Amino acid sequence: MSTNAVENAAPAAAAEDATPSGTPSRTGLLIIGASQSGVQLAVSLRALGFDEHITLLGDEDHRPYQRPALSKEFLQGTVESESLIFRSNEYWAEHNVDLVKGEYIVRIDREADGSGVAHSSSGKQFPFKRLALTVGARARKLEIEGGDLDGVLYLRNADDALALKARVGDAHDVVVIGGGFIGLEAASSLQKMGKNVTVLEFGPRLVGRAVGEETAEYFLQAHRSRGLDIRLSTSAARFRADDGGAVVSGVELQDGTVLPAQIVLIGIGVIPNTQLAEQLGLTVDNGIVVDRFALASDGTTVAIGDCANMPNPVPGSAPGERIRLESVNNAIEHAKVAAYSLTGRREEYAGIPWFWSNQADLKLQIAGLCNGYDQTVLRRDEERGKFSVLYYRQGQVIAADCVNAPLDFMAVKNALAKGQNIPAEAAADPATPLKTITTDS
Ligand SMILES: Cc1cc2nc3c(=O)[nH]c(=O)nc-3n(C[C@H](O)[C@H](O)[C@H](O)COP(=O)(O)OP(=O)(O)OC[C@H]3O[C@@H](n4cnc5c(N)ncnc54)[C@H](O)[C@@H]3O)c2cc1C
Repeated sequence: MSTNAVENAAPAAAAEDATPSGTPSRTGLLIIGASQSGVQLAVSLRALGFDEHITLLGDEDHRPYQRPALSKEFLQGTVESESLIFRSNEYWAEHNVDLVKGEYIVRIDREADGSGVAHSSSGKQFPFKRLALTVGARARKLEIEGGDLDGVLYLRNADDALALKARVGDAHDVVVIGGGFIGLEAASSLQKMGKNVTVLEFGPRLVGRAVGEETAEYFLQAHRSRGLDIRLSTSAARFRADDGGAVVSGVELQDGTVLPAQIVLIGIGVIPNTQLAEQLGLTVDNGIVVDRFALASDGTTVAIGDCANMPNPVPGSAPGERIRLESVNNAIEHAKVAAYSLTGRREEYAGIPWFWSNQADLKLQIAGLCNGYDQTVLRRDEERGKFSVLYYRQGQVIAADCVNAPLDFMAVKNALAKGQNIPAEAAADPATPLKTITTDS
């Protein structure tokens, strides 16, 4: 696959924005951010019979695509870029949705009734009756010496992935900074592509607090046994270039060690895009603060997906507990709730978050949120390469991390969704299928 495969994904004739005839001067709904949550919102609205004109606008030059493959199959070149595209131009045209690419909204003027005009950096104006912010998050920058050298890269969008792919061929050594999901996925992909990969993690364990200690330790050992050089509690002091050049050649650690690197890939988390919400005077606190119906503090703007901070959707969670999730599942479910709100129905966001991360042959699936657990049960089947950790709070299962164990994942996800339990004692036997011991709580 060519390195600019996403760029080329749309055939020339179809590369124009889908602009149905009869586009009104003021769109019924302006969705800013044309990615997972924005696309799902438009699709769900049409499924619910929302008949106003929709404008789905994003700053990227590509047709909306699925991000997860960027660190996995797309990087490795094992998927056709066309398969990452959510919907065809024909779909948008048929559903009376204007898809606008390559326009970055810098300012929004609002009227008291919630309508307004969005202004893009290119000087265009997009009048709207109602507004949805699906602006996601951006990569957190590592501000150290040499951070602007050629070859110091991030991985948030298709252009980032294309830039990385363009360099991979010539690179022998890659240093990945950040042992979170995206860093580990990319590191595994790059290792599979024959690169000598070192992962630097600032903290004492992998994947921060997204998983418990047992899972973090399992991934550490599994990756090391597959040849990844992972260094915990280690940070970069500066990036170096040979002979004062502009291209990165190495990473200098705090202790003075220099690791050769023709590519440095930084994956140290993301920052929610709240600039427009702040400009609109909406409440912002680690994301755009929304209620259970995906409505922001003005009561009319919807904000969903990675950019939104919402009440914890897990049934029975502590009153007032808020959360910002970064996952495909959340973007989809949150968008459905927003679609109900925009069509005048009130459907609370209540559900069990789930997530996946594929790293080499390690297929992690997470059901629920493990915050506040007081007990874990480990299920390990070395022979079949399966590993699961179930998390409990006061005897009730609340989450599970499952590696190459899809049946465990499904059993816990289903139990959580139905408010059931999987008693810890019985779960400890890895030979026992969890669905056979699920009980009504
Ligand atoms: C490499 C990678 C791998 C991932 N792997 C997984 C995985 O395995 N499993 C999983 O569950 N999740 C994964 N995720 C996370 C998942 O992709 C995100 O949670 C999801 O994309 C969030 O969707 P979103 O629409 O809320 O935000 P985003 O996808 O961030 O989209 C927001 C869009 O809005 C645009 N935008 C922002 N501001 C403006 C503006 N002012 N004007 C116009 N446009 C604007 C942005 O450029 C972007 O296109 C991965 C993410 C990445 C980057």
